[in-house]
Amino acid sequence: MIPFKNLPIRQFDGDKDVRGVETAIGGIKREAGREYPLVIGRQTYTNTRKLKTFDPSAPSRTLAVFQKATQEQAEEAINLARETFESWKVTSAEERSAILLRAAEVLRRRRDEAVATTVLEAGKNWIEADAELAEAVDFLEFYAREALRYAEKQPVVPFEGEEPELFYIPLGVGAVIPPWNFPLAILTGMTSAAIVTGNTVILKPASDTPLTGQLLFEVMIEAGLPEGVLTYLTGSGGEIGDFIVEHPQVRFIAFTGSMEVGLGINERAARLAPGQVWIKRVVAEMGGKDAIIIDEDADLDAATEGIIISAFGYQGQKCSACSRLIVHERIYEPLMERVVSGTEALKVGPPEDRTNYMGPVINQAALDKIMSYVELGHGEGRLLTGGTRIDIPGYFIEPTIFAEASPDGRLAQEEIFGPLLTVMKVRDFDEALAVANNTIYGLTGAVYSRNEGHLARAREVFHVGNLYFNHKCTGAMVGVHPFGGFNMSGTDSKAGGPDYLGLFLQAKSVSRKV
Ligand code: NAP
Repeated sequence: MIPFKNLPIRQFDGDKDVRGVETAIGGIKREAGREYPLVIGRQTYTNTRKLKTFDPSAPSRTLAVFQKATQEQAEEAINLARETFESWKVTSAEERSAILLRAAEVLRRRRDEAVATTVLEAGKNWIEADAELAEAVDFLEFYAREALRYAEKQPVVPFEGEEPELFYIPLGVGAVIPPWNFPLAILTGMTSAAIVTGNTVILKPASDTPLTGQLLFEVMIEAGLPEGVLTYLTGSGGEIGDFIVEHPQVRFIAFTGSMEVGLGINERAARLAPGQVWIKRVVAEMGGKDAIIIDEDADLDAATEGIIISAFGYQGQKCSACSRLIVHERIYEPLMERVVSGTEALKVGPPEDRTNYMGPVINQAALDKIMSYVELGHGEGRLLTGGTRIDIPGYFIEPTIFAEASPDGRLAQEEIFGPLLTVMKVRDFDEALAVANNTIYGLTGAVYSRNEGHLARAREVFHVGNLYFNHKCTGAMVGVHPFGGFNMSGTDSKAGGPDYLGLFLQAKSVSRKV
């Protein structure tokens, strides 16, 4: 197999790429309102309770209709997964890996459709949507190779008179619970890692983005995944999510989402259900309050570009988004002048128009939450730009910057998950690091500096799972930047890294006396 390489992201500067996505957007709009049944093995269900997905740029446009699974259906899916596990766990790593490679191929073929779906359902701009597609393909390609490595003979210390060996076996039935903000990439990453290691999966997508997740389900089936290995169970997190997490036949939960939900899952998974014979494993990747530090000798143009992309790319709705900017007082004025003018130049509007850089936030609740922080910001800081809802249909908010905020205030402490950047001025680099580390989270961070001593110090002290130097704090690439956070940002699973598949496996040691 050729070595893994990241799929390049398209910039849509060629007519062919543009036409492909335009056609796919047209296709989804024409099919708007299509209903998808719930599929459990060979059974299909249409329930009375529906899950509608809509375009956050035009909320009156229903994109698709899914079923809200009931607890009985969740039970049926778990039973099927339990039965299928018996054959899937003994399927060879080569066969499982080959399915992922075929899935990557299918996804590359359906690239324009995937981009168009994410643009319409999640409100991503075209380049962000293509980056997401590329990340999903990368996960499939990367884990297909990793599975073969994990299947190799593992090293053990030789011991006279014995033939010891160590090998990995799967865990069992897993629940995969992804967020809406990377509705294809994170969902694909967690699902494919669990499957390629021989587990069977109940995938419960986020309720805001089931159409994007449906694509992965179809891709997997087309790639030859046997029936029952993956069930795509749409429905509410609070209703069937809880049920699956607590079920005694579920062996592990791979979750990515907010800290509040992640902690709740961790707690419920720790409780022993009647009939349960294992401690459930929880992989939980959660929120962030990520900071970029700008040192006194930083390249201000590079820093400005990195700040704006990190803070306002995908409307700030990334766990890795820069929501705190920590600036050395000596370059504060020239830097902020550049950042504010760059921010004001961002084009906001429906991402269907590929010239718009920022789209809508995901839903009404997100809009209300972000606007409540804007209100709070007027009390805690000074508004430099933005701060208003844009008066067009859809959930559009201006990119917003508050300065002079206290590092201990709510604006600087709580995850807002929107286009709102809080700026803090510091006297020196030590203070910058102290402010950067002053939250309960520890996901991503960046430092712009030319001072080697400062970078070395940040490398040691800046307590985040993913740290970047003279580089934006978003856009982790599979294999290049294994991803996962410290503290309340999660279990530091390092998705897209060499340790990740180990989270879905258990090691068995066998030794024969000779
Ligand atoms: P969320 O509200 O926590 O939801 C995440 C998933 O959990 C959804 O599928 C949701 O289903 C489900 N869920 C909700 N309540 C549940 C329950 N009681 N039991 C089981 N499942 C439940 O998060 P989100 O709003 O989708 O995503 C944004 C958050 O994700 C942010 O905090 C962001 O920082 C974080 N995130 C972290 C990473 C990372 O790698 N660290 C990456 C991306 C995002 P419903 O949609 O049906 O409620």
